[in-house]
Amino acid sequence: MDMLINGIAATAADKTWIEVTNPATGEYVDRVPRGSEEDVNAAVEAADAAFGIWSEKTTRDRGLVLYRAAELIRLDHKDLAQLLTTEQGKPLKESIDEVRGCANILEYYASIAGQPSGEAVHLGKAGDCLVTRVPLGVCAAIIPWNMPVLIMGWKAGPALLAGNTLILKPASTTPLTNLRIAILLQDAGLPKGVLNVVTGPGETVGAALVKHPRVKKISFTGDCATGHRIREMAKDHLKTLTLELGGSDPMIVMADADIPKAVEGALRGRFYNAGQICTAVKRLYLHEKIAEEFMRLLTAKAEGLNVGNGLSPGTDMGPLNSAEQLGRISSVIHETTEREEGTIRTGGCPLTGSAYEKGFFYTPTLITDVAPDAALLTNEIFGPVLPVVTVPDLGAAIREANHSKYGLGASVWTKDLATVKQVYQEVNAGIIWVNRHLTVPPEVPFGGTNESGMGRENGSKALDSYTQTKTLYLGW
Ligand code: NDP
Repeated sequence: MDMLINGIAATAADKTWIEVTNPATGEYVDRVPRGSEEDVNAAVEAADAAFGIWSEKTTRDRGLVLYRAAELIRLDHKDLAQLLTTEQGKPLKESIDEVRGCANILEYYASIAGQPSGEAVHLGKAGDCLVTRVPLGVCAAIIPWNMPVLIMGWKAGPALLAGNTLILKPASTTPLTNLRIAILLQDAGLPKGVLNVVTGPGETVGAALVKHPRVKKISFTGDCATGHRIREMAKDHLKTLTLELGGSDPMIVMADADIPKAVEGALRGRFYNAGQICTAVKRLYLHEKIAEEFMRLLTAKAEGLNVGNGLSPGTDMGPLNSAEQLGRISSVIHETTEREEGTIRTGGCPLTGSAYEKGFFYTPTLITDVAPDAALLTNEIFGPVLPVVTVPDLGAAIREANHSKYGLGASVWTKDLATVKQVYQEVNAGIIWVNRHLTVPPEVPFGGTNESGMGRENGSKALDSYTQTKTLYLGW
């Protein structure tokens, strides 16, 4: 599949390619251009040239394009989901959710197109001010491989509605569905050059976008270390940044919780998308009164998950996205056992057997008796591995939950309002869920504190972040 630059299919300037393979089978799926700085420059030219046309349109007209795109995505959702599973690995039902989620985001932004976005300030004798919000110009979105379609919606929806033009750099293992959706956005009425997709390595294409003086904003989702490098590279031109850098979300289950519901929450929270989600449940804190029963139920559920090719009916969990991710998970478990930092309750190894030998499959894993500073608790573990810690009371749970460099999400499972209040006030996170985890609605801001990043996606806050204010001062 080709890139999309200035409304037309493009190959790389130097005619080289990146192969996309299926993480469940190792089979070749397609190839995309291995873009370079030259291709980034061409995309920036196109996006810059298109800015005038797009930013001059009414917000309503831009919203209508997003509505039509959402409609086209829905019409094509089965094929898009199939393609997403083939390149990413997740079960087809999760791909369908993700593709629909992308359509939902575009619709949400279209639906707020008519909302006022500025203010009028009366200064008495000194005059009046009219504060408007204007688009930034050319923006760039750097997309990860874990939820490439949803995250494309999170970034493209507000960027385009606000009147910016956009260059999207997909992850190298999952560029195909992003490219297909970009074409649908264009079919929905985006003028040429408004949305460009440049494929290629992050180290070259991503970095060239970040450093380009005419790119005004970078919205990035991915690794913490990459986020820091992007911040450093972007500083010369004082670019606006949104950095969503993952997390190590705690889930706290109190003794009064609805246990079967919380067990389902932990199962889905950790093993959805094979655990490769920034807001996955990454640390489970169980009140000692219910810990044994909880673990009995959760272990049975985890062992009952059907792990396999995401395209096969009945698959609950697919492979990890790449050999690199499988290697990371295998090595963290190896270290944990070598250092005696936890007890493997179930799982703890890659899946073996003919159905799994060419893919990157890991068993759903639960680990108890985890040492307080084990890597399992302090690092972001991006796979199907859940460390479990037993706590005597809420105070201890909150202390442990806050013992992290991250601060993205957290959940508490309880029926007690005072417990909710204390967790909401004391746990360091951008979102606190009560009796659920993972859900990120388009309507509310999403993002974290500390090493989880800066800025917010979703909601009207994200729309604001793709604009700057401009003030007209009327002195009369
Ligand atoms: P990266 O941060 O390397 O990749 C995310 C995106 O950034 C990809 O599009 C990548 O391109 C691009 N990129 C890589 N290097 C640069 C650069 N120097 N400048 C600009 N863009 C760049 O993450 P990994 O794929 O290596 O995953 C590593 C870990 O990061 C995971 O194990 C997980 O812990 C975390 N992660 C967190 C995510 C989240 O949702 N918060 C999402 C993905 C990963 P390319 O694919 O071509 O390398």
